[in-house]
Amino acid sequence: MIQIDNVSKWYGDFQVLKNCSAKVEKGEVVVICGPSGSGKSTLLRTVNGLEDYQEGRVIVDDIDIGAPGTNLTRLRAKVGMVFQHFELFPHLTVSDNLTLAQMKVLKRSRAEAEKRGLELLARVGLEKQASKFPAQLSGGQQQRVAIARSLAMDPVCMLFDEPTSALDPEMINEVLDVMIGLAKEGMTMMVVTHEMGFARKVANRVLFMDAGEIVEQAPAEEFFTKPRSDRAQKFLAKIL
Ligand code: ATP
Ligand code: MG
Repeated sequence: MIQIDNVSKWYGDFQVLKNCSAKVEKGEVVVICGPSGSGKSTLLRTVNGLEDYQEGRVIVDDIDIGAPGTNLTRLRAKVGMVFQHFELFPHLTVSDNLTLAQMKVLKRSRAEAEKRGLELLARVGLEKQASKFPAQLSGGQQQRVAIARSLAMDPVCMLFDEPTSALDPEMINEVLDVMIGLAKEGMTMMVVTHEMGFARKVANRVLFMDAGEIVEQAPAEEFFTKPRSDRAQKFLAKIL
């Protein structure tokens, strides 16, 4: 489903991704963790074409992202992405946030888009909030709307970049629960997070990055209890 082959990226002289390779099969959940600045967000962003790279190849659902002529708008519709800051359109209601891209990119009628939007709002537990504006919702609710908005595009996979790290502690679980539900239904997911409970519960693998390198990949339980590299051991000693 997602294949990252020997990807390297530089900002001037600074190499932010060093020969990164990883594979995510259909239905797998892969958690990415590592210290701040290690390249986690950058790696994730290569998967939906938000970052270019100088070497290597990224293939998503048989589409080579770097190939000339790849339609990035179509690709981004297929690859859902949820960020730390929810990035809803502040001047649109929840309902309009959910329908806009469905109509613009997928050419759905308003009625069709609204129906799909409402189904997904119900699924994230927010069916009563359709006519509100983002600022009238809590952070956890806004993040669930952001997830519903991505799902409305019928993505083949979902990317999450620290989706709970801007939330108050009491709202973290309501967002993680939605993600756990998605994982159980077989959604292919790449998730940058330090939520070890989530990783242990649903991740097929944990991928540990440091200084632009993918240093280790292991099943979650194995990674958290017996990290192989010094660098992972040091990182875990700090966060656990
Ligand atoms: P965090 O945990 O803080 O989110 P991260 O692992 O997601 O960190 P990235 O955001 O991918 O790290 O950044 C990796 C490195 O690339 C950092 O050292 C960052 O300063 C650098 N970087 C990111 N964007 C740019 C840019 N536009 N120009 C130069 N350097 C950049
Ligand atoms: Mg980041």
